[in-house]
Amino acid sequence: MKIIKTIEQMQQQMLKLKAEGKTIGYVPTMGFLHEGHRSLMKKARPENDIVVLSIFVNPLQFGPTEDLDAYPRDFERDHQIAEAEGVDYIFYPSPEEMYPGDASVKVSVIERTNVLCGKSRPGHFDGVATVLIKLFNIIQPGRAYFGLKDAQQVAVVDGLIKDFNFPIELVAVETVREHDGLAKSSRNVYLNAEERREAPELNKGLKIARNAIERGERNTQTLVNMIMEHIEKNTSGKVDYVEIYSYPDLKELETISGKIIIALAVKFSKARLIDNIILEAK
Ligand code: AMP
Repeated sequence: MKIIKTIEQMQQQMLKLKAEGKTIGYVPTMGFLHEGHRSLMKKARPENDIVVLSIFVNPLQFGPTEDLDAYPRDFERDHQIAEAEGVDYIFYPSPEEMYPGDASVKVSVIERTNVLCGKSRPGHFDGVATVLIKLFNIIQPGRAYFGLKDAQQVAVVDGLIKDFNFPIELVAVETVREHDGLAKSSRNVYLNAEERREAPELNKGLKIARNAIERGERNTQTLVNMIMEHIEKNTSGKVDYVEIYSYPDLKELETISGKIIIALAVKFSKARLIDNIILEAK
């Protein structure tokens, strides 16, 4: 496995491999790898000749009051995990390498972003789209792997790939969870012991709504209220949002039907956790 830190070297290497007819599968991450990231690498490995992992904590997608500096990092551990998963290249650029000066073009995501995390994290998806355009052009993958834990990100990337005609197949991978249902996240290390005990209630709230849908409930507000009540009663976290939309276009629904997403974000003392389920309401 090779570690590459410069854009020029990475791009040259990828162009060379493509010229040899190799297929490239790409897994973008911010590092501090866990089972969720591993599942993306595991999916990519047999589907591509070459697997590239990037590790880059992208300053552009963090708001001024968010956890950019405190974001957990451990390159040595990540390196070992990538090696164990059979990754061929780690692209590990510095912020200066990725953003050497002021940009001359600004990327602004206009659809699928005024709801969920896009609403409570203004500018977040502009930052995600900007870095991905750069990374896609540097790595030039045929397939890119994203986790459905960040389902809004998957929806935004789907729009980005289609709008800008990237010749990339987007592969969405199911959320990997702890045994008690908590979605694996690099940010789970910020939870204190009591919050960690409470955190699975987020997923339980989503399941309560799913069960209600299976029993015939179709009213969006009723379902949202059920989840809110469950979380407020069973955790010390502060609900940032609980919302239900069509998926992947993220349009409002008074009455649910078709493919939908039920998504939530809850703030604990040091961690803001997100979770969602996507289902087909018949
Ligand atoms: P991050 O490092 O948090 O930016 O995540 C990098 C990629 O891993 C994104 O596509 C995430 O959606 C995905 N990911 C993070 N957590 C999970 C999880 N628990 N299950 C599946 N994919 C995940």
